[in-house]
Amino acid sequence: MIYLDHAAATPVSQKVLQAMKPYFTDDFFNPSAAYLPAKKVAADYETAKGTIAHAIGAKANDLVITGGATEANNLAFTALETELKLHSGPHRSLPSPRGSRAISRAAALRNTPSWSVNSVLYLETEHDSIRAVAQKYSGIAIKVLPNGLVDLKDLKSKITDETILISMSLVNNEIGTIQPLAEVSALVKNIRIDRLKRGIETPIYLHSDASQALNLLDINVARLGVDMMTLNAAKIYGPKGVGALYVSHDVKLQPISVGGGQEQGLRSGTENVPGVIGFAEAVCEAKEHLNGNRKKYANFKKILLSELENYELINKKHSLDNFVVLCYNGIDAERLIYLLEEQNIYVATGAACAASKGKKSHVLKAIGLSDSQIAGSLRLTLGETNSEEQIHEAARIINSVVSSEKERLRNG
Ligand code: PLP
Repeated sequence: MIYLDHAAATPVSQKVLQAMKPYFTDDFFNPSAAYLPAKKVAADYETAKGTIAHAIGAKANDLVITGGATEANNLAFTALETELKLHSGPHRSLPSPRGSRAISRAAALRNTPSWSVNSVLYLETEHDSIRAVAQKYSGIAIKVLPNGLVDLKDLKSKITDETILISMSLVNNEIGTIQPLAEVSALVKNIRIDRLKRGIETPIYLHSDASQALNLLDINVARLGVDMMTLNAAKIYGPKGVGALYVSHDVKLQPISVGGGQEQGLRSGTENVPGVIGFAEAVCEAKEHLNGNRKKYANFKKILLSELENYELINKKHSLDNFVVLCYNGIDAERLIYLLEEQNIYVATGAACAASKGKKSHVLKAIGLSDSQIAGSLRLTLGETNSEEQIHEAARIINSVVSSEKERLRNG
């Protein structure tokens, strides 16, 4: 098998698996229990959280562990609920309904929030877990340029005094584009200063989904200037269903589940100890191999681009080297996927969740591809399971499958 879909899922590494194993069996205790072995498990859990946090320049207390990136993304958006609560509480006066204020007085009284369209801004190329939650808060999309980078002009034009949250992934999950987050956070800081000067109390936060980033980027939340950041163990050779939200001290969130009060009351439920231990190990491995992996995937990408034939490269610039998006215009990429699977090569057309619903890629559309280009686009995402030999072999098989498909089309 040649697996070229590492953006959809990565296998759990052997080291991760070994690190997790004892916490399924011998060290199975509930971290909240009162006896000593449980306290040791609780301490290991905190240490693991500290390791994950340290990798992004944060502390264990800054992280809320979640059941994956979708949950972390949903949690980040509860910053808006906090604003609603603040302004609709019995002892706080409501903000004046100037323009399209975040919550109208009538809506707050009815306890049915109606958000201003400018309360939430999100990049139009975001993962569905952001797009869906942003829509819940009547968010509006920020455009991207044809190279996949945020259109800063469009972003600036859409920020108003009502804007509370901007959500922009660090690395796009379909084309691997790395967004200039530091530039966006500098803009957000200036807006804060300006609001302060004008006596406007509405906060503005920058959230970034970094699910696809930890494998190849050295992330530091302070350097990037983000207020919240989503991490995902499943994309870095850790277990599925484990994620984290980094939350800076200024941001106040609302619980996504209530109960035992775990994770600072924001995500109640018995801690997933093996998952978090595995997540920490995966983070360490990613950090350790960062530079080696960058070189490895740059080399793999170079091989693919030189050996593949008659394609158009979609993500030419500003993207991680483990993302190679190719367009075979006039050919149905969905068919290519099945034909390649017959040859034991696993690739994708875009995000796995969109593919399973038969949806056309909103990302490729956003960067200006025509319908026929979108229909002919393949996403290859490289990873740990690949060797250089496999990459040569994949190029050879893809060439042959594409040319026989062209032949088939020519012959009607
Ligand atoms: N965000 C991004 C950028 C992703 O690539 C993914 C997974 O594909 C998710 C969020 C959702 O992650 P999960 O399914 O683990 O919740």
